[in-house]
Parts: sequence; C-alpha cells; structure tokens
Amino acid sequence: MSERPVFRFAPSPNGELHLGHAHSALVSHDMARAANGRFLLRIEDIDVGRCRREYEAQILDDLAWLGLEWEQPVRRQSEHFGVFGKAIEKLGAMGLLYPCFATRRQIAEAVAARGAPHPLDPEGAPLYPGLCKALGEKEIETRKATGEAFALRMDMGAALALLREMTGGAPLTFTETADDGSHAQCIEAAPARWGDAVIARKDAPTSYHLAVVVDDAAQGVTHVTRGRDLYAATDLQRLLQVLLDLPEPVYHHHRLITDDKGRKLSKSQGDKSLAALRRKGLSPDDIRSLLAEN
Ligand code: GLU
Repeated sequence: MSERPVFRFAPSPNGELHLGHAHSALVSHDMARAANGRFLLRIEDIDVGRCRREYEAQILDDLAWLGLEWEQPVRRQSEHFGVFGKAIEKLGAMGLLYPCFATRRQIAEAVAARGAPHPLDPEGAPLYPGLCKALGEKEIETRKATGEAFALRMDMGAALALLREMTGGAPLTFTETADDGSHAQCIEAAPARWGDAVIARKDAPTSYHLAVVVDDAAQGVTHVTRGRDLYAATDLQRLLQVLLDLPEPVYHHHRLITDDKGRKLSKSQGDKSLAALRRKGLSPDDIRSLLAEN
C-alpha cells in the first residue's frame, strides 16, 4: 500500500460542471500536489436515470482543460453496484435495515397530519416519521411479491445502540482541516439528525452516502475534500464507516462558490458552466482568477 495521501474529486455526470465544481476539483488536486499525494477521479453515477455518458465525457474534457491530471482507471460507481450490495447485506445482517415502501408524498402527508412542527434533516426533508418501521414480515413479503418498489432505511436508534456497543460509548468524531491541511480540528459527528436514512434507494441499489464510504475505502482515499454543502453528510458517513469497519479519512470542506446574488451555483445555471466560459474564450488561468475573486 502506498504511504502517499490519496485525494479525490467525485462529480456526478447529471449536468455540466460549473465554477463551483472547478473550485472543488482544483482544491482537491492542489492539496494532493502540495502533499505529494495521489489524485483520483470518481464518477458518481448511481442515478442511472439522470446521469449521461455525454456529461461524463464533457467533465473529463473540462478537467483536462483546467490542467488537472488524475490516475487511471477512473472509477465509475455504476460498475460497482455488487460491491455496494455486499455492504448493504452486511448492515442488513447486523439487523439495522428495514424496507420502506412509502412515497415522498405519503411521508409529507403523514408529517402534515401530525399538525405539530416536524424536525427536518440537514437537507431540509422531514425526518422520516417511521411509516414502514413496524411492518410485519408477512405484509413485507406480500408487498414485495406484488412488485411494490421499496427503499432500505437504517434504523438510526439501533445503529447508534450498536455503535455504543462497538466503541464503548466513545464519541463519534471526524478530523476537519484547513485547505492547506493544517489546523486539524476534531469535530463530533451527530448522525441522529439524519433519522432513519435511506441506505438503498427505490430507484438505485445504493444511496449516495453508502456508495461514497464504500468507494472511498475501496480507492484508499485518505483525504476527502468537498464543498461545505456536504459537511453534515459527514456525520452519517462516519457512522457508516464505523459500522462497516472502513478506514476513517481526513476531511476538508471548502467554501462554496456563489453567484452575484450570493447563491450557491447549481447545475441548472448553464451560463456559469465551464463549457460556456470556455466558449467565451476564458483560459484556465482566468478561471483560477475568477475563483480567487469569488
Ligand atoms: N458526487 C457528489 C457531488 O457531486 C460529491 C460527493 C463527495 O464528494 O462526497 O456533489
């Protein structure tokens, strides 16, 4: 095993890269360079309905144009569903997963019917109100047999109880560093705020969180660098790492690039796409300057 630190950039090919992605890729790449580390690329395409090979080709082209170099082969998540399945089986065998047939709408209705303010998860979705938590074996089998789609959720209470058993009650933490790798801070993770999170989606045999921790471990990633919008995701991902006995990387959540109204860039804002900026004649150095000014 290499002793060199391993960094990665992990875009989803569901649209064109924008300045925010360029920043993320450059931060990770430059940190890897500065640490004499390795830099990997991973294509996060578990959402096979929305991800496109054309976007993936454009991403590789944009990143090469920016001057980034990454190791081969590029890991494509859609080629590793079997590996994610093994991790999900492991969590299932630990008694932590249950099938959930509820639709988003049913969840929203159940929450509204309660009438009281309902807690939200870090992404702003209502915490799962437990609709399918107490289904009997028989009902589960019948509904599965009729082909009704289901997700797998993790029983957060059971997962935290098992975590306490595994770690003797030690706090679940992660290390967050500044963008030069200094100022390591020990942060306490609070996975309970995700509630009974989805581990395998209805429309994909994994979730983002599960795929990320499995792949970071499979690729030997030692340093996860990504935007602050994923800071809270680290809480749930740390829990999964401990439960699945996966190594703990160091984290750096970088600042987010915003538009002139101070809003985070999104993939629908095509005018800020790297491809559009390239067409306008900007150079990779211009992109770095724009990012430094943002
Ligand atoms: N694929 C995720 C995204 O494009 C990034 C995942 C990560 O860096 O952990 O937002």
